[in-house]
Amino acid sequence: MKNFDIAKIFYEIADLLDIKGVQWEPRAYRKGAQSLENLSEDVSDIYEKGSIKALMEIPGIGKALAEKIESYIKTGKIKKLEELKASFPKHFDELLEIPGMGPKKALLLNKELNIKSVKDLEKAIAQHKIAKIKTLGEKTEQNILQGIELLKKGQERRLIGFALPIAEQIRDALLDKPFVEKAVIAGSLRRRKETIKDIDILVASSEPKKVMDFFSSMKIIKRIIAKGDTKTSVILDNNMQSDLRVIPESQLGSALQYFTGSKEHGVKLRKIVVQKGMKLSEYGLFDRKTNTLLASKTEEEIYKKIGLQYPEPELREDNGEIEAALKNKLPRLVELSDIKGDMHVHSDYSDGGNTIKEMAEAAIKKGYEYIVLSDHSQSLKIAHGLTAQDLKRQWKDIDKLNYKNFKILKGTEVDILSDGDLDYEDSLLKQFDFVTASIHSGFKQTKEKITSRILSAIENEHVDCIGHLTGRLINKRPPYDLDTSKIFKAAADTNTFLEINSHPVRLDLKDTHVREAISKGVKIVINTDAHIIDELDYMRYGVFTARRGWAEKKDIVNTMSWKELRL
Ligand SMILES: [Zn+2]
Ligand SMILES: [Zn+2]
Repeated sequence: MKNFDIAKIFYEIADLLDIKGVQWEPRAYRKGAQSLENLSEDVSDIYEKGSIKALMEIPGIGKALAEKIESYIKTGKIKKLEELKASFPKHFDELLEIPGMGPKKALLLNKELNIKSVKDLEKAIAQHKIAKIKTLGEKTEQNILQGIELLKKGQERRLIGFALPIAEQIRDALLDKPFVEKAVIAGSLRRRKETIKDIDILVASSEPKKVMDFFSSMKIIKRIIAKGDTKTSVILDNNMQSDLRVIPESQLGSALQYFTGSKEHGVKLRKIVVQKGMKLSEYGLFDRKTNTLLASKTEEEIYKKIGLQYPEPELREDNGEIEAALKNKLPRLVELSDIKGDMHVHSDYSDGGNTIKEMAEAAIKKGYEYIVLSDHSQSLKIAHGLTAQDLKRQWKDIDKLNYKNFKILKGTEVDILSDGDLDYEDSLLKQFDFVTASIHSGFKQTKEKITSRILSAIENEHVDCIGHLTGRLINKRPPYDLDTSKIFKAAADTNTFLEINSHPVRLDLKDTHVREAISKGVKIVINTDAHIIDELDYMRYGVFTARRGWAEKKDIVNTMSWKELRL
């Protein structure tokens, strides 16, 4: 499928235009790229059916972008990108992929040290050449090195929000076929890890050859690594590896147990199995002495026969789940269907892309009972933060929108300023239904400083929740240095909630933090931080994180109705 290749080019064009200081145009390219990524049909099919006119019916694709798509389909190239690249030093774009590397710094490195690629850069760092440049220095050199590490990690492990929709697309295409009885996603994706290396799919079928032929001919595939009778490995056009295995339906449970992992969970599980005189493999659970098959069809049967409570895939990390399962003490994990509202969404009042009405109606469609409109506060200029005056207008707008059985709550994402003050006065803060406080600046302060900023927000009586606590962006920006145990304690003491920000690049709190916070009595809110209606769908990623953090319904604030919340 060409969609992702073209989207990637559009992003590159947008980035290069940004560097040149071009206004508006980059936004059009990014919008076009996003739209291509979300498209389920291959653009080349759309083009074949209806030429350039059909392309222009794709949302976000105007004439200029449609022509570029056409040119890519016909020639494999987009001239605009070639021209733009030619106006910069060679391999410049490679440098810009390093997290934290802006165009200014890249140009400076090129000018001073003739650095043209990541390789050049690594060499220069090894010789401490960057530390010696006055305007850069030791700290920058370290940051660049960290950036290169992040870049390499990101190429190896992709975000779950990127991998899961693709895996589901493959699974659904398989399920459509009459020769496929069942198709299931396994591996770390089934355990809902935040980053994923490859996509494992298990298919139950009595006609493996047909399955192999269909899978290896899918459009989403770039190249086949190995094609056997019951296993095929491919590289997808997004450069991820995907392995598909066909098994008889009677062994689906044992295969799923085996290929879901984690390795550590499997090792500990097999120890218990051996102690009980059994053996477990991808083919089934057997009596060790007689080799009699005890169970293989479902995972539930297998765990039961071993004498364990069934652990949800998210728990299988050897973090105490086997011990708990032996005592029948596994948590009953929160579900997506438990969520009754989203307590952190933006509108076009600040930096969102939809109106309050559009956000509300999309939330109603999801079956929610409420949203908390939480636009940015005044100091966050780049996000069009709201002044007290703007808020008056916004509240009037909210009051005009009256829905039956649905409530738009008046909230804010108030900035925790770099000195620890909040961006609104208490007299204003107390007028909101719900206040989330977040950090958007001063990431490089010391551990003590950032921790005390967050603590003072927690101690403010009007603050209900702390947003994206650690500020990390997976594969892009490390979390800031924080004393989380102090923060969890203060949050529990003041009954201030902590957010799981569901954006796939954030997932902040992360799973281990969730578990620790809950164990200290902190209540969690799962939010999407949606800036457009489509992002309301991110909720499931936050729920996955909560589940990986052993969270039950009672631990999650927004499983309550707004009346129970008593806001
Ligand atoms: Zn934020
Ligand atoms: Zn936000």
